[in-house]
Amino acid sequence: MFPQLAPLARTTTRLHPRAGSPTPYDSSIGGPLLWPSSQPWPYCDKWHEGPVSPMVPVAQLYVRDVPELPKPGRADLLQVLWCPSEHPPFYKPTTKLAWRTAADVTDILDTPPTPADPQYGYLPTPCVISPEQVTEYPNFLELSEQLREQVNDWSTWRAAGIAMDDDYEEPQEYYSDELSEAPGWKVGGWPPWGLTDPAPRFCINCGTVMAPLLTIASEESRDYRRGWLPTEDQGIAVIDDDPVHNPPGIQVSKSNHLQFYLCRTCSNHTTLIQ
Ligand SMILES: [Zn+2]
Ligand SMILES: [Zn+2]
Repeated sequence: MFPQLAPLARTTTRLHPRAGSPTPYDSSIGGPLLWPSSQPWPYCDKWHEGPVSPMVPVAQLYVRDVPELPKPGRADLLQVLWCPSEHPPFYKPTTKLAWRTAADVTDILDTPPTPADPQYGYLPTPCVISPEQVTEYPNFLELSEQLREQVNDWSTWRAAGIAMDDDYEEPQEYYSDELSEAPGWKVGGWPPWGLTDPAPRFCINCGTVMAPLLTIASEESRDYRRGWLPTEDQGIAVIDDDPVHNPPGIQVSKSNHLQFYLCRTCSNHTTLIQ
């Protein structure tokens, strides 16, 4: 229907976290990490009045489950940790990313240290993931003016025989809710926007526009975005904080998103953006 939109398609892996009992050998949200006992566990030393605080596992993603992940060197595993609280001045958790080659880790750290007082919403409930590859398109506001006009023209949709829910007053709402960016935890694809209008994220090292790496979400779905709900969840009412709505129980940055961006030029350079 919109030829100019086709080249903007990106593949995303939605993670679809589900409460479970992941092992260090599984991809997981909030599960045990394949962390070598010979390597020090990461601690956060920023903004704590008391002693430094151990970080907690947020995500562990094997490339075999998430093909969109970059693979620096021999790495086939990405581990994400954070300090489970909001830190001034931007009220984000401090984070750490580790790239690993799973086969190199033979002696696993069994009992990593745990923080004494994690903030509500920042200690993920352990979840396994059910990765699903989907196609995404840019946020409506990221489209050119010409493309925005085309997408928001009823006649094109009618000509293609697309039946839209009566709740949608304009096609751009349908595009935004059901077709552009998927909600929830995901790797790659197009970023969600909400608190701000879209803006490119430049690498502070080389100036290249960076690509979304990982989106950490405070919700998996919304009633008005049912098109993105997995088929098996379609009959379930979506209620705040229920196991379908938000299995990891994360409430980050005032129930928003936390996004990591990666510079493909510098390859090992990652930036955290809310
Ligand atoms: Zn901290
Ligand atoms: Zn760069």
